[in-house]
Formats: sequence, structure tokens, C-alpha cells
Amino acid sequence: MDKIAKALVFDGMVKVAALDTTEIVQKAVELHHTSPVATVALGKVLTLAAYMDNEMKGADDRLSISIACDGPLESIVVAAVNGTVRGYVANPDVSLPALGNGKQNTSKAIGSGTVNVRKDLGLKDCYTGKSEIVNGSIDEDFAWYFTSSEGQPTALALSVNLDEAGNCTSAGGIVIQPMPGCPDHILVMLEDIAMNFVEIDRLVAQRDAHRLIDDYFGHFAIEYFDEVSPRYQCICSPHYMAGVVRSIGRAECVNILMERGSIEILCHFCNTKYIFDKQQVIDIWQEWDKTHKKN
Ligand SMILES: [Zn+2]
Repeated sequence: MDKIAKALVFDGMVKVAALDTTEIVQKAVELHHTSPVATVALGKVLTLAAYMDNEMKGADDRLSISIACDGPLESIVVAAVNGTVRGYVANPDVSLPALGNGKQNTSKAIGSGTVNVRKDLGLKDCYTGKSEIVNGSIDEDFAWYFTSSEGQPTALALSVNLDEAGNCTSAGGIVIQPMPGCPDHILVMLEDIAMNFVEIDRLVAQRDAHRLIDDYFGHFAIEYFDEVSPRYQCICSPHYMAGVVRSIGRAECVNILMERGSIEILCHFCNTKYIFDKQQVIDIWQEWDKTHKKN
């Protein structure tokens, strides 16, 4: 089971989260048949989404992250709600030679672009944030996103390890965020700790989120919170997709029905295909008319 372990260190001045997202990333590989470089890029964003979702307070708060870029991946889209994440890349079969150190070249796959974050906090309360891609490592792109867009200094290290067949053997990472007013001498210590981020692949491969925090902060007093288990799950359903049919508009629905006899909607997050025949489309619009006449 995947895990998020969280803790406070330095007398509550620093928040630390460690994640094991191996099963989430492997699920993405199975659903989307992603190439190694696409798996690493998507897997890292899925990992961060699991973290950011866990940080949101309300059970129905919704998170969406999209990276629009000029590299061959073109875009990465990830969404999360209530402990579940889901995502896809525009071009899952992008193939690039690995770097000299064996790592996947996500920088080249992404190129330049922007990170866009939307947090829907219920009612009319919605937060949007945006920052530039720094170097396509995802790690540095999101460290910069948190710092520049959310005003939250952040150090983070992510890792997605694959076997020769391209399956995910381990994925996860660590996110470190100082609280407001954190004294300078602690920030200096955090910089020292971040020097050891080069070890992240090996530490994530242990698949033990709790131990990952110990590995970095074991010399200090750590106050742990309960662990939670994020998972990959899509939220699509016939009911949800009926809303997508309505978003096409009545006239366009008629056009598609005349041309093809039914309306097909593909959920990009889980590749489930929904087919609405003529009668079902009529029902969707009659239902809409009924509910809108009442008001
Ligand atoms: Zn779906």
C-alpha cells in the first residue's frame, strides 16, 4: 500500500512529508502504457498531487495540476480529491535516450512551459497558481512553484525507479517546508540536509515513508502524525460524463448523432470509453430541461 508519512521537526518549525507512491505510478503505467521518460515525469507530478491533496483541509477539496509545455510530452494533467489521484500525459509514448547517469531526460521531454495549479475549495472559493518551468526536472519546477506562487519556501526531492520493462519498482519522495518565522540557523541546517537529496533514489527504493523521514532527520526530535494511504482512482461515471455531453451543447450533440449515431466520450484519466446512444442523449437533455424549468 502507498503511504504518506508526515512529521514536525525542530520544535514544530519545519513540516516534513515523505511519500511512497509506487502503486499509484505503476497504475499509471498500466493504464497509459507510458514510456520510461513519460512515466518519470507523470509519476513525479502524481506524487506531488498526493502530497498537495493531503495538505488541503476539506474532504471534497479538489486539486488539479496541469503542465503545458513545448517539449514532446506537450502536457501533463493530474487531478486529486480526498486521497485519490489520477493523471495522464498528452504523448505517453515519447521516447528519449536516458542521460549518462541512467536517469530519464524529463528536461528534454518537457522543454519550457508553465505549471498551473487550481485548488477548488468548495463554494466559490478557488485558488489558482502559476509558475514557469525551471528545468523540467519536476523537482525544481515545483520547489519554484511553491516558493514563487504560494509564497511557501520548499525543498523537495522526488524519485521514480523503473525496471527494464518500464514497470515502476518504487516511487515517492520527500517534501520539506519551513513554517513562517522559522529561524535562520534552522534554514541553514535544512540546506545541509537538502545536500543529501542525491541519495533520494536509493532511499525511495526502500519503500518505507516513515524511514525516509528518519533517514534525513533521525538525529533530531521528530513528532510524527498518523500515516495515510493515497491511491490512484478515477472519479468518472456515466452521471459525470452526462455533464460532459451537456457541455458539448445541444446543437453539436444533434450534429454528432446525425453523423455517427452515438456520442463517444473517452475519460483521459482512466481510458474508459462512454457511449451514449440517441435515446440516452435525449434523456440527458430532457433531464436538463426538467431541472432548469423548476428554477
Ligand atoms: Zn475515468
